[in-house]
Amino acid sequence: MGGSILILGAGFGGLETATRLRRALDETFEITVVDRNGFFNFGFTKFDLMFGRREPEGCKEKLSALDEKGIRFHQAVVESIDPEAKLVETSTGQLRADYLVVSLGADIAPEAIPGFLESGGHHFYSFAAAEWLWPLVDEFKGGQILIAIFDKPYKCPPAPYEAAFQLDDFYRERGIRQNVGIDILIPGPMPLPISATVSAGIEELLTAKQIALHKNHKVVEVDYKAKQAAVANGTRFPYDLFLGVPIHRPPAVVLECGLGDQGWIRVDPATMQTRFERVWAIGDVVQIPIGDFAVPKAGAFAEDAAATVAADILRTIQGHGQVDPFQAQGACYFEFGEGKVARIAANFLGGPTPDLSLSGPSLEFRADKEEFERSRIEKWFGK
Ligand SMILES: Cc1cc2nc3c(=O)[nH]c(=O)nc-3n(C[C@H](O)[C@H](O)[C@H](O)COP(=O)(O)OP(=O)(O)OC[C@H]3O[C@@H](n4cnc5c(N)ncnc54)[C@H](O)[C@@H]3O)c2cc1C
Repeated sequence: MGGSILILGAGFGGLETATRLRRALDETFEITVVDRNGFFNFGFTKFDLMFGRREPEGCKEKLSALDEKGIRFHQAVVESIDPEAKLVETSTGQLRADYLVVSLGADIAPEAIPGFLESGGHHFYSFAAAEWLWPLVDEFKGGQILIAIFDKPYKCPPAPYEAAFQLDDFYRERGIRQNVGIDILIPGPMPLPISATVSAGIEELLTAKQIALHKNHKVVEVDYKAKQAAVANGTRFPYDLFLGVPIHRPPAVVLECGLGDQGWIRVDPATMQTRFERVWAIGDVVQIPIGDFAVPKAGAFAEDAAATVAADILRTIQGHGQVDPFQAQGACYFEFGEGKVARIAANFLGGPTPDLSLSGPSLEFRADKEEFERSRIEKWFGK
């Protein structure tokens, strides 16, 4: 038998798919993972960078370690994808696949909001941006901080609230919280639109920490000269430090190749197959509707989807085997400051309605979060 499996993107989805397939297939199957970066980084470590808790090098897992696990790592930029022919052009040459998995995540477009880049373009949605935030957070002596979610979808829906709770805690520790205003501007009617109950829990905690939440306040422009955020309803909010959640878009290479003709890639959640034969897609690059909403973009769900993708590839190769449909289930850890962590457990597709619950915050969940990171590093990189 034998064949080549090509996985585009070494994030949560790509790494979990590669690991599962490597365990299940013999060496006549070549498994290649392509990524433009030489390292993997957990989304939540961006907060460790933003608050100076960890050194940048300590937050990177080298992808070259995959080679030792029998997974070929190919560092290159994916420039075009032909899903019919399963041919991929990269910055270092062409790759051909018998089985293709697209797990390229979401791109961010900070330039999409007028004035945001000119205001400094500060955010915590990339490794570099989170690193650059630390000196600003460290040197901030008082004034107004605004956190604005420009639009949905964006990765890790709780993340902007986690940023606010940690800013609160950081300036309390420094004894200057009374001089720091923290306001969050969101485009919709609740923090996590998919769950009114969890949203109410978050709102209660925000109020307890004197963090103001402005619902239905969609920031459309940052007036960087006046240092004010302009909201669609005509109101303006002054700021000393502006943090935005940049607009998220499907990667350009996906939009250009016909896979994402409606924007994000659509798949059948029973198998995670795209409309192209032997082409699967997974993680943030995919949009799976749930009523008026969609499965949130989070690493835990990308990892969960990898089980379905890997099983379906094995069934395609072997002609038999069970494939459990993607349920979008998993747990995300939510930083609340004071070392406390809450756990959001979710199952979006497994029942008649999305199931979401918030436990904590408590000090106990910190150990769970650390174990989440440690166990993935061990599983994917063999450490
Ligand atoms: C601050 C923050 C906190 C977060 N906290 C959590 C959390 O607690 N729990 C949780 O589950 N999720 C969390 N997330 C979200 C999580 O990081 C993402 O949802 C997850 O990484 C998505 O996995 P993925 O495999 O779809 O994509 P990604 O992990 O983004 O991987 C995509 C890969 O594709 C590569 N790529 C993209 N385009 C190209 C190209 N053209 N050529 C080559 N390579 C390319 C990228 O370099 C990247 O490595 C957080 C995110 C942020 C920003």
